[in-house]
Amino acid sequence: MFDFQTPIQLIPGIGQQYQKKFKKLGIETVRDLLFYFPFRYEDFSQIKKIAEIIPNEINTIEGKIIQIKTFKTFKKKFFITEAIVEDETDQIKVIWFNQPYLTKNLKTNDFISIAGKLVEDKNKCYFLPSHYEKITNLNQEHRETGGLIPVYSETEGLTSRTIRFFIKKCLKETRFPVDPLPHSIIKKYNLPELKSALKAIHFPNSLSEAKIAKKRFLFEDVFILELIILIQRQKMKQAKGFLIKTKMDVLEKFSQELNFQLTDDQKKALVDILKDLQKGKPMNRLLQGDVGSGKTVVAVMAALMTVVNNYQVAFMVPTEILAKQHFQNFSQLFKNFDINIGLLTSNDAQINFLGLISKVKKSDFLKDCFNQKIDIIIGTHALIQKNVKFKNLGLIIIDEQHRFGIKQRKALLVTKKDYIPHLLSMTATPIPRSLALSLWGDLDISSIKELPKNRQPIITKIILPHQREKLYQFIKTEIKKGRQVFVICPLINDSIKLEVKSVNQEYEKLKEIFPELRIGILHGKLKSADKEKIMKEFLNKKIDILISTSVVEVGIDIPNASIILIEGAERFGLAQLYQFRGRVGRGFYQSYCFLLSETNNINSKKRLESLIKVKNAFELSEIDLQMRGPGEFLGTKQSGMPDNLMEALKHLEIVQLAKKEAEEILSIDPHLESHRLLKEKVENQKEILEIIN
Ligand code: ADP
Ligand code: MG
Repeated sequence: MFDFQTPIQLIPGIGQQYQKKFKKLGIETVRDLLFYFPFRYEDFSQIKKIAEIIPNEINTIEGKIIQIKTFKTFKKKFFITEAIVEDETDQIKVIWFNQPYLTKNLKTNDFISIAGKLVEDKNKCYFLPSHYEKITNLNQEHRETGGLIPVYSETEGLTSRTIRFFIKKCLKETRFPVDPLPHSIIKKYNLPELKSALKAIHFPNSLSEAKIAKKRFLFEDVFILELIILIQRQKMKQAKGFLIKTKMDVLEKFSQELNFQLTDDQKKALVDILKDLQKGKPMNRLLQGDVGSGKTVVAVMAALMTVVNNYQVAFMVPTEILAKQHFQNFSQLFKNFDINIGLLTSNDAQINFLGLISKVKKSDFLKDCFNQKIDIIIGTHALIQKNVKFKNLGLIIIDEQHRFGIKQRKALLVTKKDYIPHLLSMTATPIPRSLALSLWGDLDISSIKELPKNRQPIITKIILPHQREKLYQFIKTEIKKGRQVFVICPLINDSIKLEVKSVNQEYEKLKEIFPELRIGILHGKLKSADKEKIMKEFLNKKIDILISTSVVEVGIDIPNASIILIEGAERFGLAQLYQFRGRVGRGFYQSYCFLLSETNNINSKKRLESLIKVKNAFELSEIDLQMRGPGEFLGTKQSGMPDNLMEALKHLEIVQLAKKEAEEILSIDPHLESHRLLKEKVENQKEILEIIN
């Protein structure tokens, strides 16, 4: 007998080869294997007679193998396995490509069930299987699979068939642990128990049975997550935060020097933050607001209060360009204050003492940081390197927080005795309220919904291929008027190399269309000094059109740029497109966002159209939640949030139920003393805790 912890190499038949391959799929124990769920089921339950099958439709047939052989193709590039299969109505040729081992398993006179499609062209007609199963005879009523065959994500040399084989073995020969879900909950919601749920997921009798089983696991995952969140909240309530008092005179001086008035929403957000800072509890507030809504100045004022209370501030941003822009921005805003500002990126360290900016050695910078000679440190990921130490870190600000992995966000939150620094996260990709509420319930969020008064709405248009000419004409006239243009190249499979290529191609193309204009390029392969030089040239109007990959996405402020043209728009997420669009409309000019798309896919079109309709990022976030799931908001790939949880969070009704049940249990048993299994689970999932906090 196995149990959940049994390493898979102890399962007979899994040699070193398979073990390696399973490891690639993240499967190392029997538990991993049993929790490797199929992503769909092949339906073998509707069996067609050979004479009835229709070309190009997926059908399942059953028959006897009359003959079968494997041979190499003419040029010896492929193996082909050819079989003739017969039922009482007809015969058909079945062809498999490149599976030479098939003939070891399938022999003449074997019975077989095959799902696949009939391919018919001028002179050929054959059946192309996607799956097959050996059966003992025709019309057998009790097939072990109940007619639904689970299909798994495969890796090279490890097929669904093999995975299925070992899972079946484990289901039979494993001693199952006690179900961690309390019996009362199982009964209340009529959920299947652990063992039967696993059986039903892998080998369901019907699709609805599989669905209920899946729901049970979704529920379990979210339930544990909610327990973790609630317990953590309880703990956070006990931690101490630095006391940062509001000094009105300083704030007033700062406001008077600003060349604009804060909007009401900005004021409200600031008040929320200032209140948090003097509670004596660590703040954990999310400041969300559209691109250009003016979050920075609110954060700057919080930073100012922190510094005059004699604490340091760390301000972390996702890109080097943005770090530099903020550094300059801060230097300007604080020019009449006695505040020392530092800039730290992987390539660069600068300080602004007494309003004088100078480059310094990194080691000196780190010393100054540790001695609290620097009050506000602005930087990229470089800020969370181990060698960066603060003397008195009171406030952490994270800009564009969704661009950071959660581990990175957490890395700054080092505790000093019982104190935790205050945390202000900012995002232009708001978490949909529905999701936030069900996950956290009482998460502290401030929202800036109105834009500063001087903004005009950006005109957004989808441009079809035949409208390109006209678009370029329009761009010419705008540039003649003195405006500038961003061109964003399509996203290419995370491949910087290919992106560089596409930027260069775009450059050649636009050079021909606009021979008289000055065109610049920006991409991830450029040295940061070069990137900065180009951004500067663009800012100083030495460049008319800036072609860029998505590096330009966040934060950069070029008020004279009034047009953004996005190639391959359908490849980007809505949130990202929304961010791009925010690059324009920052000055006084009417601005435009053109989405170029060659796709005919209806969903992609719908998605692009919703970008035209939405009023603000808050609306958009709810749409993106429905269309793409919560990954977008919790930081997608980098977040480290396991896929199963991502999936679960799409089902808000499950999240809500799970939260309710978690609250109920904790109200009776706050430390889960009488729910030992749950307690174990909660403690085993500490990494999730890091993600959600
Ligand atoms: P985001 O919220 O996207 O980070 P920023 O903080 O960069 O936006 O602000 C965008 C621009 O708007 C900046 O140039 C900033 O100086 C300006 N701004 C901020 N608040 C106001 C306001 N209340 N009135 C006018 N302009 C403002
Ligand atoms: Mg910003």
